[in-house]
Amino acid sequence: MINIARRRFDCLVIGAGGGGLRAALQLAQGEAHVAVVSKVFPTRSHTVAAQGGINAALGNVTPDNWHWHMYDTVKGSDYLGDQDAIEYMCRAAAELVIELEHYGVPFSRLENGRIYQRAFGGQSLNFGGEQAQRTCPAADRTGHAMLHALYQQNLKARTHFFDEFFAVDLLMDPEGYALGALVIEIETGEPLIIEAKTTLIATGGAARIYRTTTNALINTGDGMAMALRAGIPLQDMEFVQFHPTGIAGVGILISEATRGEGGYLINSEGERFMERYAPKAKDLASRDVVSRAIYEEVHAGRGCGPKKDYVELKLLHLGEEVISKRLPGIRESAIRFVHADPVVKPIPVYPTAHYTMGGIPTNRFGQVVVPVHTGPEEEVPGLYAVGECACVSVHGANRLGGNSLLDIIVFGRAAGNHILEYLKDHRGHRGLPEEAVERAMARLTRWDKQGKGESVDQIGDELRLTMEEHCGVFREQKILDAGIWKVSELQQRLKRATLRDHSKVFNTARIEALELENMMDIALATVHSAAARHESRGAHSRTDHPERDDKNWLKHTLYSKEGNKLDYKPVRLKPLSVETFPPKERVY
Ligand SMILES: Cc1cc2nc3c(=O)[nH]c(=O)nc-3n(C[C@H](O)[C@H](O)[C@H](O)COP(=O)(O)OP(=O)(O)OC[C@H]3O[C@@H](n4cnc5c(N)ncnc54)[C@H](O)[C@@H]3O)c2cc1C
Repeated sequence: MINIARRRFDCLVIGAGGGGLRAALQLAQGEAHVAVVSKVFPTRSHTVAAQGGINAALGNVTPDNWHWHMYDTVKGSDYLGDQDAIEYMCRAAAELVIELEHYGVPFSRLENGRIYQRAFGGQSLNFGGEQAQRTCPAADRTGHAMLHALYQQNLKARTHFFDEFFAVDLLMDPEGYALGALVIEIETGEPLIIEAKTTLIATGGAARIYRTTTNALINTGDGMAMALRAGIPLQDMEFVQFHPTGIAGVGILISEATRGEGGYLINSEGERFMERYAPKAKDLASRDVVSRAIYEEVHAGRGCGPKKDYVELKLLHLGEEVISKRLPGIRESAIRFVHADPVVKPIPVYPTAHYTMGGIPTNRFGQVVVPVHTGPEEEVPGLYAVGECACVSVHGANRLGGNSLLDIIVFGRAAGNHILEYLKDHRGHRGLPEEAVERAMARLTRWDKQGKGESVDQIGDELRLTMEEHCGVFREQKILDAGIWKVSELQQRLKRATLRDHSKVFNTARIEALELENMMDIALATVHSAAARHESRGAHSRTDHPERDDKNWLKHTLYSKEGNKLDYKPVRLKPLSVETFPPKERVY
């Protein structure tokens, strides 16, 4: 038997963002013995960076109703979202936002004391009417407030935390049960086996595979890659959201809340160009639409600045009071990164990689599901996934702003509840086969290899640039095919790369090498899925196939690592209790 320290829990949660913490809280409050592993201190997870807010049809500012929220989400998804999961999420929203308030989230207020709600992209009244105000903010630091409140609630509920532990790989038995994970303590470099009756992956997104991104350094898609290696296909990976307003040249996010509060975009001629692209919703059309419009303005020579390579976001007309009260963090970022105080100067912006719509396929209970040849898909026993690493799929081909913070709360809680039920029927730990441990350990020992291989950093830079150039806002067959070839080459080079530093204590070079292996798998999944989808839908925009094609492509992609195999499965168009929103042309 391999001599590695072992710990045992009812549930292992990998990831301490909003998704992992909401699930862990449900479990700890339900008397389950739960461990949360995170490669950074929990409150440094990317959820902390979320600015604009969380959606719920509270109707505090404009009339509203969960069914309208559902319609907007289905339409925003370009009809690729599963309507049962979307109904479930939108129905649960109001109750769970109020629950967050009770956990201590200091939401912004109206004069009458109710939660303030701001306008966000793609929100409408009455199945496509005027702009609705549905997004609940805590100024422009909503994720920060949520993550801290959830962390404190978990401490109170006695969740066990493994802070700064890195999950290397899942442990699975030959019958397909998830049995926990191999992790390493970053400080000491020592491996640890965490055995668990259930394992929940909540490792967040992977937009770090792009050079220009709003994502934190830690968003490297580790959990998705672990799933791929365990033989689980990833769903809809071609759909990567580019946020229209990253600070130009930097990528840092300027929240959609700026436009929700009344800001708008202008080109070098001072024209409010979104009026041409989305006559009704204008600057608050959904993100894919606005990102494409900016790209087209710049490529038509109407960009701003000496190189004409960005557009400008104008806020000055809002006045200092609104900017300071509602958008203090945005003002700070703009001053700090581009010396542009939005009170007196517009902010230079350009689309930046932001969110991974695809991920590990799950049902609305958070159970990971895989296709089987003999009939409908099956659950992987004991394995769950929630949050940005999962694809349930409520965002389909394009996520609406404010719906991800909602997704992590709703499905974090749902997964927690389902795990509690599962634990009632699965009281004991299953035996852990040694081969599972050996396979996971091989990932680590591979990096002990000495010698003069290529450096990991160089390969990482090339990967991020390749993804930007070959799988960006607009896509085309030839360029995508070349992208597949380049990423595959980089993956081969990474296999021969070596580390200079083989020390154990706080060896971040080793962690970065493991992360780059993960990113390589995610990049391949993305570019393979994108090259095969011969239509334009949501964030996937093909210049050579500019139309949406419901006849052939109203289906989810499933990419498997073995042989880069692609498979497809139908969209669940049937909601739980209401009528289907049938696919229609999408205009804003
Ligand atoms: C700048 C920014 C602003 C945003 N603003 C909004 C907004 O206003 N509204 C909205 O709805 N959405 C917003 N989003 C999206 C939303 O914040 C995220 O999709 C969501 O918070 C993801 O939560 P999560 O729990 O899935 O993952 P994360 O919060 O990303 O957490 C992932 C966790 O997994 C851990 N982890 C990862 N890999 C490993 C590993 N190998 N071993 C151990 N631990 C690991 C990390 O340490 C971390 O704890 C924003 C995103 C960004 C980047």
